[in-house]
Amino acid sequence: MLPQPLFVKSFKLATKIIVIGAGFAGLSAATCLADKGYQVTLLEKNEVAGGRARKFEADGFLFDMGPSWYWMPDVFEQYFELFGKKVSDYYSLVRLDPSYTVFFGKEEVMEIPAKMDELLAMFETYEPGSGKQLKDFLAEAQYKYEVGMREFVYKPSLSLLEFADLRIVSSLFRLQMFSSIAASIRKRFKHPKLIQLLEFPVLFLGATPENTPAMYSLMNYADMALGTWYPMGGMHQIIEGMVALAKEKGVDIRLGQEVKQIYVPNGHASKVVTQDASYDADIVIGGADYHHLEQQILEPQHRRYSASYWEKRTMAPSSLLFYLGINKKTNRT
Ligand SMILES: Cc1cc2nc3c(=O)[nH]c(=O)nc-3n(C[C@H](O)[C@H](O)[C@H](O)COP(=O)(O)OP(=O)(O)OC[C@H]3O[C@@H](n4cnc5c(N)ncnc54)[C@H](O)[C@@H]3O)c2cc1C
Repeated sequence: MLPQPLFVKSFKLATKIIVIGAGFAGLSAATCLADKGYQVTLLEKNEVAGGRARKFEADGFLFDMGPSWYWMPDVFEQYFELFGKKVSDYYSLVRLDPSYTVFFGKEEVMEIPAKMDELLAMFETYEPGSGKQLKDFLAEAQYKYEVGMREFVYKPSLSLLEFADLRIVSSLFRLQMFSSIAASIRKRFKHPKLIQLLEFPVLFLGATPENTPAMYSLMNYADMALGTWYPMGGMHQIIEGMVALAKEKGVDIRLGQEVKQIYVPNGHASKVVTQDASYDADIVIGGADYHHLEQQILEPQHRRYSASYWEKRTMAPSSLLFYLGINKKTNRT
């Protein structure tokens, strides 16, 4: 069954909706709403769409600024299918083989084969018996992926009642919500390199393996069974595809429009102000970081959390990225 795109109650079709931010979240929200017949304007502060997945061009070089791992191709297929389209209508995707290369050091390189029998054989070279362990581990992970996506990820999460279903509650143990992925991997594998390889996808959650439920071995299933893919031309092809679809559905995308304030008279957001324009709205949807929208764009009386609440949060680690353009061929290693 396809995921339900959005749960919009009974607003009139003349309803004007402003969506803030043209990243994956804002683009998909805007497109789903426009598809339902609403008047949607998408305001993006940058001069290009894409947010963290936008492209950067300088001196003849073209960079993808953020993502380089295309996992879970089913999620993108399902997204385009919501509108009767296919991924291949917008960009062409190839499965990479090897999926990726891990550099443990200058001399130690591990290439991860896309084909399952080759992957199992590679595990065996590190630790006898680990091929069979990997097979069992991935079978469990497949269950977690299927149940986790269906019962958790595609739920709108508007109320805890969505999860009050005996099937979901009874699946919690099999999903291994209460033990860590670090422990679950160490039960099956002893070789430190295999452990590192299997723990690495957790970094996408910004968490440590010790603090992440074993349910997230669903990421290993995404990695090793569903594969690593590449949209030909670069990751920004996904954004270009999503922008093209948004426009087909009638979304009015305004770039270079940084929202400075959302006006909320009488408890209802009714106007959005950018550096040089103002937009009336019946509904405002935030597709930018929650912290930014709440702490900087909303007036204090409309914020759900205080500044001190945010100060006490543990943030996921950040990184400093350099975009290097090299005008010579290089040796990969
Ligand atoms: C370096 C890096 C590598 C990554 N690698 C991967 C990967 O390999 N695979 C993967 O799946 N994910 C990866 N990610 C994560 C992925 O890129 C993000 O999860 C995703 O792009 C977030 O999309 P979003 O729409 O939620 O937010 P964003 O992309 O942040 O979109 C928010 C948008 O809102 C705009 N905005 C903010 N404030 C305002 C305002 N006041 N007014 C108007 N517009 C505003 C921003 O400019 C932005 O365009 C990576 C991220 C980074 C940074």
